[in-house]
Amino acid sequence: MDADVVEIDGSQGEGGGQILRSSLALSVATRRPVRIVKIRARRTRPGLLRQHLTAVSAAREISQAEVSGEELGSTELMFAPQSVSPGDYSWSIGSSGSTTLVLQTVLPVLLTADGPSTLTIEGGTHNPFAPPFEYLALTLIPLLNRLGARVRLDLVRPGFHPGGGGKLRVSIAPAAHLERLSLTERGKMIDVRARAIVSNLPLHIAERELNVIGRKLRLRGEKLTAEELKDGRGPGNVLLVEMQSADVTEVVTGFGEQGVPAERVAARVARECRKYLDSGAPVGEHLADQLLVPLALGSGGEYVTHELSSHAETNIEVVRRFLETAIAVVEQGDAQTLIRIG
Ligand code: ATP
Repeated sequence: MDADVVEIDGSQGEGGGQILRSSLALSVATRRPVRIVKIRARRTRPGLLRQHLTAVSAAREISQAEVSGEELGSTELMFAPQSVSPGDYSWSIGSSGSTTLVLQTVLPVLLTADGPSTLTIEGGTHNPFAPPFEYLALTLIPLLNRLGARVRLDLVRPGFHPGGGGKLRVSIAPAAHLERLSLTERGKMIDVRARAIVSNLPLHIAERELNVIGRKLRLRGEKLTAEELKDGRGPGNVLLVEMQSADVTEVVTGFGEQGVPAERVAARVARECRKYLDSGAPVGEHLADQLLVPLALGSGGEYVTHELSSHAETNIEVVRRFLETAIAVVEQGDAQTLIRIG
């Protein structure tokens, strides 16, 4: 094996799709070839699913990479990028796989490419275990824009798991140099509001969720919005709580599930919101893992989170395989952890 090839064990730590996506992003950005084995070994259906395969194709197209193992179910991939080519791209997952996770693969690289890009991605826009559209639009992308890039995200059509049929459009005006991010405090909490959306399901599901959220988070009626979508394909229900503080907006999400009462979905979301609100930390669990790659590829930064997930820990390990950048994790009392990159 070529000494320059980065070897990644896909079964390490979290053992899911994020190891693949982060490895692809880091490989393209550093132009270092990567070999990933045991892809998604800790998942019930290991190997590349459609969403992951689309992420591989997307990374290949923007970098003219030579790839082997780019097949459904593949548990091993060799990926050798050549260059970074910003431009207009369209990718269709062909299932309800998450469009936002495909974006997670290419976005960090295109933020500093030498030209603008527009991306159209079709698949799911509201999937369990992935960032929903609103999370990217309100939480992650405003922070990336604070680094100096200009990213705009539009929801052309929502697509819920498992029906899919959704579409995202993204335009990226890159920055030659990304600023450092400092997000160690969240400042005053300005607003907390909740939206419950149903697609081809009765509106009372949304209303019942909002009742619980209103009661548990003590939100008045005007902070609670129920929406009924007629154009989304397939049934779907998402509950989104937006917590806007001076320095960051966090979004906590719950998805309706068949056989799970709406009240239980909402109670789970309320507990997660409470945990975030009580911790005083600016960065929630998911943002903590999603900031790592863009900051490590930019000028670094530091942020305080309330919970270091195994996704974040694993992502730190993956970043360390590609970059010399120092990453420090410092516990601050019981409820907060500082992550410093560079
Ligand atoms: P698999 O786990 O099946 O391999 P995957 O490719 O979906 O699948 P994971 O490795 O589990 O990937 O990564 C999921 C990503 O989605 C992580 O970055 C995580 O922070 C993010 N995520 C999950 N749920 C949410 C949520 N509710 N809000 C925001 N981000 C989320």
